[in-house]
Amino acid sequence: FLEGRTALVTGSTSGIGLAIARTLAAHGARVAVNGLGTPGQIDDAVASARDAGAPDARHFDADLRDPAQIEAMLADVAAWSQASGGGVDVLVNNAGIQHAVPLAEMPVAKWNDILAINLSATFHTMRLAMPGMAARGYGRVVNIASVHGLVASKDKAPYVASKFGIVGLSRVAALEYAAAGSRDSGGVTVNCICPGWVETPLIEPQIEARRNGGSRDDGVRALLSEKQPSLRMSLPEDIGAMAAWLCRREAHNVTGTAMPIDGGWTAQ
Ligand code: NAD
Repeated sequence: FLEGRTALVTGSTSGIGLAIARTLAAHGARVAVNGLGTPGQIDDAVASARDAGAPDARHFDADLRDPAQIEAMLADVAAWSQASGGGVDVLVNNAGIQHAVPLAEMPVAKWNDILAINLSATFHTMRLAMPGMAARGYGRVVNIASVHGLVASKDKAPYVASKFGIVGLSRVAALEYAAAGSRDSGGVTVNCICPGWVETPLIEPQIEARRNGGSRDDGVRALLSEKQPSLRMSLPEDIGAMAAWLCRREAHNVTGTAMPIDGGWTAQ
């Protein structure tokens, strides 16, 4: 159902973003890959999107801390996607970083980077991509927030602030674009996915911090038992499946939501 559509997935050289890129590709989308990494990692991510079924895939370089680089990236993606009408049809704001220390010890540079990548970049891609979505009558913004967009944990001041910010930003955009398009064209929707623990490199330092001299599995068990009642981590593909569903035409009236995939974390 994404044939002829162009998807931009930020932070898709790793983890959840790569899985979302692959899932959208499997449904026929052309995929604009973005994210940091060695040339080898970047080539692998693009090849992986093509292998999953993307009619075309390319890496677009942009350090998301820099609004000028984001503007250049959106212009490049629009030019590249002329074959499918030009512009981003599916925008997945997924890039994110974490740094877990108490508030008073949080380096100011970390606060600035986390807010820039996790929150401000999302504002910039949305302001640049959404007018085109409205003009074409179809658009999907899927913002990867977190359970930490709904509830807090200690030692994550900038991360939690950024994720609550994404949920608020998404609600504003959902309202502003609610009447764009039609039921037939699919409309323009904006939603957040709020994962609990997902198996990716982002959480390795937090697993490591809970090993207490034991194995990695001991660290995983300790992490899950603190907050995630299912005691199972999600796979990146599980998040990809929800992102893809939100892109379906039938989801035209699902907008302004923040959907937890958290094994019951926020039910407590
Ligand atoms: P990851 O570390 O595997 O991937 C992060 C991606 O962001 C990478 O592609 C990286 O290159 C990119 N990135 C980082 N800084 C960047 C920058 N300055 N410019 C461009 N790209 C940059 O992490 P992940 O776990 O896949 O996380 C993806 C998203 O999911 C993040 O927003 C994270 O907060 C969110 N999330 C993750 C979990 C989890 O348990 N893993 C839970 C909830 C939410």
